[in-house]
Order: sequence, then structure tokens, then C-alpha cells
Amino acid sequence: MSDTALKPHQKELFGQPIGLYILFLTEMWERFSYYGMRAILVLYMTASTLGDDVRGVGLGWTSKEALALYGWYTMLVYIIAIPGGMIADKLIGQKKAVLYGAIILCLGHGVLVLTDIWAFYTGLGLVILGVGLLKPNISTMVGGLYQQGDIRRDKGFSIFYIGINLGSLLATLIVGVVVAKYGWHAGFGLAGVVMVLGLINYIGGQKYLAQVGNHAEVTNAEDEVSYGKLYGKLIKSPKQLLITGILVVASFVGWYFMDWGYGLLFLFLTAIAALLMMIYRELESQVFKDRFIVLLLSFIMVIIFWGAFEQAGGLMNIYTDTKTDRMLLGWQVPTIMFQSLNAGFIIIFATLVAGLWAKRKLKGNEASSLFKMAMGIIIMGFGFLFMVFAVMEFEKSGSSSMLWLVLAYLFHTIGELCLSPVALSFITKLAPAKYASLMMGVYFASSGLGNKVAGILGESASDFGEFAIFAGIFVFTVIIGGLFILILKPLKRLTHGAEDNEHVIEAEEIEIAEN
Ligand code: GLN
Repeated sequence: MSDTALKPHQKELFGQPIGLYILFLTEMWERFSYYGMRAILVLYMTASTLGDDVRGVGLGWTSKEALALYGWYTMLVYIIAIPGGMIADKLIGQKKAVLYGAIILCLGHGVLVLTDIWAFYTGLGLVILGVGLLKPNISTMVGGLYQQGDIRRDKGFSIFYIGINLGSLLATLIVGVVVAKYGWHAGFGLAGVVMVLGLINYIGGQKYLAQVGNHAEVTNAEDEVSYGKLYGKLIKSPKQLLITGILVVASFVGWYFMDWGYGLLFLFLTAIAALLMMIYRELESQVFKDRFIVLLLSFIMVIIFWGAFEQAGGLMNIYTDTKTDRMLLGWQVPTIMFQSLNAGFIIIFATLVAGLWAKRKLKGNEASSLFKMAMGIIIMGFGFLFMVFAVMEFEKSGSSSMLWLVLAYLFHTIGELCLSPVALSFITKLAPAKYASLMMGVYFASSGLGNKVAGILGESASDFGEFAIFAGIFVFTVIIGGLFILILKPLKRLTHGAEDNEHVIEAEEIEIAEN
């Protein structure tokens, strides 16, 4: 087949469907706006209401108030991916969900340009909704670009992941400078402008996405996604109802002893747990049921991974600022620059790591997603060993070398590359097609919960000290990763060969490469 005979959505570039690059760019701009806004959020909330000449007035909150809102915001943005995925599965398909998400994000960032407090809350709310619609669904669309068994899928997700981090790297480098020169609201505005670019790119690239993310026409009532029906059936299933009842009671206990925010969160998670139980019951075959269980088990790794990894923005950031010798050839490296290491390392190593796994797989060696994810946790865990060495050096000499941090972030990044893009790809292989976006939403919600765990862990360093936290995370993550490797065989059996026959999808690809 000659290249010109191909429809736009069949065309390839560097051995990958062109649609991948459209999604890559859309997600790159979306992540630029997300991370750019996130980078200045706490600073804006804590900046004085008297303002300064350049940046303008802040909200004048205490850092405790600001961090509390920040913690909820960064969690909610991912938790809301569950309804975002549900809407796509049930109503509009992923392609439209991404479109609406992008439009809402443009509005949200636009509103944040205004200085009133109502605009601040409205803007944040819109950003949460927009990310919730866009983030899980764009990831599921990447999976939709590949046929089952196409070995390029994992690599495709790694390339997509580079887009994510390119956006985040550019944002951390540029937004701070814009705020310092033109003020807070110019920073928010820049995030908005960039999101408009993402939207234009997405709309412009539609012809390359013709086959993915469409809401399936359902002819058979049985095939229709009906959350109402599933909840209806819950009432008739005594075992599931009992579990749900226990969770509801636990939510109210949480409400009473913690606060209403946690209570609501637990209630929401209970509703989702009940839904997942009912979906499990309704799945037609044992193969789908087993795969569903494996996915849910793999989400335990996801929560633990992000719970440890996300120390980067909190405890490790403070450690860099206060206990690290940052002098390099007479210049003091700014603390904030260490936050760019992760994204930089991803851009350098993403295709390398994916390529290594693909080679291993073609040689017939163990390279299942579950194995990669478990290795990811272990490798990331070893990063914390360097932090332990850093604390030991600090205790001996009053400061510690930057090298420990660079090594820690390097290991964290390699671990992230083994887990995060792999998990996204794994979900698109295992999730039942009609709940594909919901499961992607549950993945992001798990990472959101991980973020919250990270915050709680980081705070507890003031009671237990950094050594205990870093050493504890190292030991715990290595043990958990090891445990998953120990049960790898039975877990893989439950996937029923979902990844066994991955191969190079030959004919077309070779022809296109030759033309
Ligand atoms: N850094 C990645 C992103 O922004 C991971 C997010 C996550 O899974 N929590 O997409």
C-alpha cells in the first residue's frame, strides 16, 4: 500500500501513528498549564495582601491554610477523573470528553486572570473539572491507537509521557519568570493562553484521530453502560451490600473524628467501591473478572508508588532548601531547579527505558507490565537510600552534597518510567472495553490518593525526623515491590495472556517505513 493511499488516521511518523503526536502535543500544553499554575498556587495564596510592585497582591493566607487547600486541590484534580471517565464511557466517548475538558480548562485558567476571590475559587473548580474530563480520557485514547497485541503500544505511552514532562519542564522554567516580571495574574493568564494552543492543536488534528475515542453505538441494551442499574442491583446482593454498609459507617466515623472533607471523600470512595464490586459481578466471563482483579491489585502499587514519589515537592524540596550544599562553581543552584530534574531525566531516558523492555520482551525474557511496575517501585525505593546517605552526611558535617539528590531523582525517574506509562498502557490492555475510561479514572484517583498519603508522610517528618521517613520509605517500598514479584506468576495467570502475544505488527508498518 502506498503512503498516499492511507487515510490520515492510518499514517505513521517514526513508526508510530500520527494521532499519537496530536495527543502528545495536546497533553503537553495541558500539562504546561496545569504544572505552571500549580507551581505558583501556594506562593500566590501566601503572598501578602499588601502586594508588591511587580507581582501584585496575594491572598495573604497562612502557609498552613495554603498547603491544606493545595493538598485537597492536587488530590481532587485526579479523583475527579473517575466521573470524567464515567461520562466518557456512558455518554459522550473519550474524544468529546477531551474536547470539553480542554474548553473548560481554557475557561478556568481564563477566570484565574481576574483578581477577585470568587474568580479564584471558580477558576480552581473549573480546572478540576477540566482535568477530570481530559486527563483520563486522553490517556485511554492513546491506547485506542493500537490494535490488540501491538508491541508499539508501551513505547507509544512512553513517548506520550515525554509530552507530559516536556509540558511540565517548560512550565516550571517559564511561569516563574513571567510572574516575577509581570505579576501573578499574568502567570495564570499564560497557563490559559497555552491551554488555548492545546485546544487548537487538538481540534486541528481530528483527522488523525478519526478511529479513536468515539462513543460506541450500542445496539444491544445489555451492552449499554448503566450505573443506575448496577447500583440498583447492589440492593439485591447481600454480601456487597454488607461491605458497602461497613464502608459507609467508616465514612461517618471519619467525618466525626477527622473533618467533613475526609468524610465526603470516604463516602465518594465507598460509592466507587460499590460500583466496582457490581461491575465485577456483572462481567460476563471469568477472564474479564480475573483481569479486573489484577488491575485493582496493581492500583495498590500505584498508591504506594505515588505516596513515596511525591515527597519530591514536599519533604525533599524542603531538605534541598535547608540542608543541602547547593554551591556549584561559586554559584548557588536555586532550590526550585531541582524540581526540573525529574522532567529532564524523563525526557532523556523515556524511550531508552521503553526500548530496553521491548528488547527484553522480544528475546522472550520477563517484561510483563506487572513485573515492570514492581521493579519501578523497587528502583524508586532505592532512590530513598541516597536520601538516607544525605541525612547521614548532614548529621556528620552540617550539610550534604547535591549529588545525593541528583541520584535520588534519577532513581525516582527510572522507577517512574517503569511504572507510570506502563500502568497507563496496561489499563488499556486489561480493562473491559465499555469501562475503559472509568478504569483509567480509578488509576488517576489512586495516584491522587498517593499524593495525599505523600503529604501526610511528609508532615510526619517533623515528629519522626527525616532519617526515619526516608529509611522507612526505602524499606517499605522494596518489600512491597519484592512481594509483588513473588506473586507475579499467579497474578500473570489472572491476566489470561493479555500480554503474551505482543509482536511487531508487520506488513503495513514496514511498507510505510519504506515509502
Ligand atoms: N506526572 C504525571 C502526570 O502529570 C503523573 C500523574 C499521576 O499519575 N498522578 O501526568
